[in-house]
Amino acid sequence: MAANPPLIIVGGGLAGCLAALCLAQRRPDIPLLLLESGTSFGGNHTWSFFDSDVPPAARDLIAALNPVRWPRHRVRFPGRERELAMAYNSVDSSALNALVKAQLPEGSWRLNAAVHALEPDAVVLLGGERIAALGVIDARGPDGPMPGLELGWQKFVGIEFAAAAPEPDCPMVMDATVPQIDGYRFVYVLPFTAERVLVEDTYYSDDPALDVAVVADRVRELARERGLIGPELRQETGVLPILIGGDPAQFWPDNDPIARLGLRGGFFHATTGYSFNLALRLAVSLAERNEAFDGKALAAWTRGQFVRHWQDMRFFRVLNRMLFGAAEADQRYRIFEHFYRLAPGLIARFYAGTPKGTDRMRILSGRPPVPIGAAIKALLRR
Ligand SMILES: Cc1cc2nc3c(=O)[nH]c(=O)nc-3n(C[C@H](O)[C@H](O)[C@H](O)COP(=O)(O)OP(=O)(O)OC[C@H]3O[C@@H](n4cnc5c(N)ncnc54)[C@H](O)[C@@H]3O)c2cc1C
Repeated sequence: MAANPPLIIVGGGLAGCLAALCLAQRRPDIPLLLLESGTSFGGNHTWSFFDSDVPPAARDLIAALNPVRWPRHRVRFPGRERELAMAYNSVDSSALNALVKAQLPEGSWRLNAAVHALEPDAVVLLGGERIAALGVIDARGPDGPMPGLELGWQKFVGIEFAAAAPEPDCPMVMDATVPQIDGYRFVYVLPFTAERVLVEDTYYSDDPALDVAVVADRVRELARERGLIGPELRQETGVLPILIGGDPAQFWPDNDPIARLGLRGGFFHATTGYSFNLALRLAVSLAERNEAFDGKALAAWTRGQFVRHWQDMRFFRVLNRMLFGAAEADQRYRIFEHFYRLAPGLIARFYAGTPKGTDRMRILSGRPPVPIGAAIKALLRR
């Protein structure tokens, strides 16, 4: 008798790997196949997140990824400097790669397997091989410009240096005391060990174009200014979407027969472009659901999650309109400076994408850090 066809996840990046790991752990009865076009799972990333981004049901999974964890972090602006007792973590993609290989059953993953075509119950690889599936999930990451979405961008270049960290126990998550060019600019410094530090130069910009060589030179300069002198170990770049508005039905039509996860499905935090927390929450929910795992059911379930996420992000889209539309580019930092007056619990809920009603009121209260007329216009636009 032929074996049951597997649930196929296309794309072994962050979302695809977390979903596969949760399914393998909680639903060993469902045969799985994780297909990744690259030579390793997860690409070349570090993923950072707060303790408060991790749902209790995913704590074991995160512990198995052995994150670097700092019990506190700092932010700095021209008019405010603060140390927050909110733990910050960072996971390296090589840890995800190792965990997938260790925890997924033999035969349930393949590298160098580029998928050419996806159907609800089959995939076709670039070489022509066709694999029948119980269901198919598209987790191939972003596909160029996201159709129907109005976006700003968070773009950055980071370099990891073998250098002595000035403050090995406290990352600097936002230092906006640098010249403000190309929108809201800040420096991000993660001391992975006392001798290994990531320095990133980040821009909230209207324009996704990133001149990597120019920004990499700025990173070297920033590192020198901070006394970080040492060989370069690794470089990473990113251009992440920041959601301002758009038409969700154009981005993901409701008759689309293929399920999606990760950035391919618009599952990112509208204001940070980050997706670690959402990928984790969806991976847990997927593995805990009791309904069928065929292609049609998965497409309906994942699209339903997207519609809910779109609604949850409405408040963040309003804030983004203020950030990109109401403030002059070199004054955008004031919005974050103003935000960081708030209590750590509220800040944690903001980054987790789960602010309470009172949090929303507090975020918007006080004298707006942008011209009042422009702020009202941003608030009223739908
Ligand atoms: C450098 C960088 C740093 C980031 N840092 C953070 C962070 O600190 N915290 C955070 O929350 N977010 C961060 N992000 C944002 C976001 O979380 C990541 O982009 C995340 O990796 C997105 O997850 P994903 O699974 O949707 O896509 P990806 O992780 O990009 O995974 C998609 C995978 O699909 C594979 N693939 C593509 N096409 C095919 C195909 N045809 N067949 C088979 N496989 C295919 C790709 O090779 C890739 O491995 C960062 C992004 C970047 C680029």
